[in-house]
Amino acid sequence: MTIKHEVPSYLTQHGIGPWGDYLEQIDRVTPYLGNLARWVETMKRPKRMLIVDVPIERDDGTIAHFEGYRVQHNTSRGPGKGGVRFHQDVTLSEVMALSAWMTVKNAAVNVPYGGAKGGIRVDPKTLSQGELQRMTRRYTSEINIIIGPNKDIPAPDVNTNEQIMAWMMDTYSMNQGSTASGVVTGKPISLGGSLGRREATGRGVFVVGCEAAVKRGLNIHGAKVAVQGFGNVGGIAARLFSEAGAKVVAVQDHISTVVRSSGLDVAALQAHVNETGSVAGFKGGEEISDRAQFWAVDCDILVPAALEQQITVENAPSIRAKIILEGANGPTSPAADDILHEKGVLVVPDVIANAGGVTVSYFEWVQDFSSFFWTEDEINLRLTRIMREAFAAVWQLAEEKKVSLRTAAFIVACTRVLQAREMRGLYP
Ligand code: GLU
Repeated sequence: MTIKHEVPSYLTQHGIGPWGDYLEQIDRVTPYLGNLARWVETMKRPKRMLIVDVPIERDDGTIAHFEGYRVQHNTSRGPGKGGVRFHQDVTLSEVMALSAWMTVKNAAVNVPYGGAKGGIRVDPKTLSQGELQRMTRRYTSEINIIIGPNKDIPAPDVNTNEQIMAWMMDTYSMNQGSTASGVVTGKPISLGGSLGRREATGRGVFVVGCEAAVKRGLNIHGAKVAVQGFGNVGGIAARLFSEAGAKVVAVQDHISTVVRSSGLDVAALQAHVNETGSVAGFKGGEEISDRAQFWAVDCDILVPAALEQQITVENAPSIRAKIILEGANGPTSPAADDILHEKGVLVVPDVIANAGGVTVSYFEWVQDFSSFFWTEDEINLRLTRIMREAFAAVWQLAEEKKVSLRTAAFIVACTRVLQAREMRGLYP
């Protein structure tokens, strides 16, 4: 049986934005999927997308409206899973791509989830704490009909944190009349959060970074590392690399770029960022004004850990790193990927490199269901094992098929998702 389909216009922005990048990645993997390629259209169509109006009363008595989204890209292997992002540039198309990358990521590291993502188009810095809480609660209430511990489990992402998760958990619980800690992950420890969750994404980046360094014959001790983004992912990864003896030679955030060829004092930089909100004005390094120069910094390991679409055909030729660890989701465009591949740069793709976060989210969810909590050592050990095994499997497949690590990760993931899809069969 062949499946006929008209493609709706919002799904076909090939080459445009993050969703366009994702479609290109799926096209690149399709020739390796054998008979499962028959189902590949599944990967190109999110299962369910909800756009919600989020009205709040502002502190000054006026009413503000925000646009919110929750996209469940796929649930073939389990409930939807993925973060919620508060950012002024959030669009439906971006959330679609982020939800699809969650499907691929969850399958690549083999946690029993589909993929989902949410977001609100807002700059949270323009809101008071009270406004932020009201917006979060109203958004949660609006998406309440499609989330739940067995349906779709949100988590932190850009500009969302443990406090936001606590409000989401409380709002969902109030609506249903009993406390449901498993409805979100990345919660405060006191509400059923997991030890090690806050650091998990950065730790996972570090773990696969060490594996990649071994493959490239690079010693982490003394290696030069450049990090874009100094939040929950980049900040933790920078700290772990520097604790392992690497030199963090450049850090860029949304405001400024600081460099120091002998290595920045990461703890002092973190203290400065906690105090001022940015790396700008940090005295322990030199600030450079041309943001584009960051990409040409002399380094061995480059960690894009901010937003998508950062490494492009414009800056890829100037990159000097031997290894790129994608802490962010979707930081590299497919065309830039080709340039890096030709230059011999080893790119550890987002769907492996930043999967530590959702892996410990999975541990949190399991702990909540069993009401039995693990030690931080147990969590970090299990996380490290999963990350190493996923990296090794993808590495081996990449060698066998002579493809990039990204294509190999997509082969592993799409095979798992589409096998589940095929075995479940079409209903009715
Ligand atoms: N937002 C994180 C990601 O992009 C974590 C998602 C989760 O823990 O569900 O992977």
